[in-house]
Amino acid sequence: MKMEGQANEIKLVMDARSENEAFARSVAAAFAVDMDPTLEELEDIKIAVSEAVTNSIIHGYIEKQGKIEIVCRKEGAELTISVIDKGAGIPDVSRAMSPFYTTAKEKERSGMGFSFMEAFMDELHVTSEPGKGTAVTMKKVISRSPERQENHGCTGDE
Ligand code: ATP
Ligand code: MG
Repeated sequence: MKMEGQANEIKLVMDARSENEAFARSVAAAFAVDMDPTLEELEDIKIAVSEAVTNSIIHGYIEKQGKIEIVCRKEGAELTISVIDKGAGIPDVSRAMSPFYTTAKEKERSGMGFSFMEAFMDELHVTSEPGKGTAVTMKKVISRSPERQENHGCTGDE
């Protein structure tokens, strides 16, 4: 039985390894699927998760060992995804979030990860402390979400 109106949350903890990035992005997409996202919304979610996880691996842990925690939560039509690492942290978050800013030029990074997360999701919040780690929280409202439809008076009976 589905418990209407209640938030639903999952948490995934994984090693910060690039081969786990695809898994994380698929988990987020699979979690969102019953909100009836469009294919475009699903792609947006996957890209955003991918960017955040990649950042934790290459900048947070600088390709060293560590854990990444991914929390996915749905409440009504709103999907919230947090990607949390206990890595290097970011000294100046607003600077890091500006387009084309990168500390990894030599690795041919373009500095567009945060810009993509911002563009593909509805909200983006980044908190970080040097030496402690980084938490990226992203929200997206799923347009066709059954709960959103109900609010507009066209109930899909289960
Ligand atoms: P791209 O994502 O285009 O390959 P990039 O990763 O450098 O390049 P962003 O994703 O926008 O660009 O990140 C900007 C900068 O913010 C990074 O270069 C890095 O210095 C810092 N940063 C981002 N995420 C983290 C993190 N989890 N831990 C530490 N630093 C981070
Ligand atoms: Mg990046």
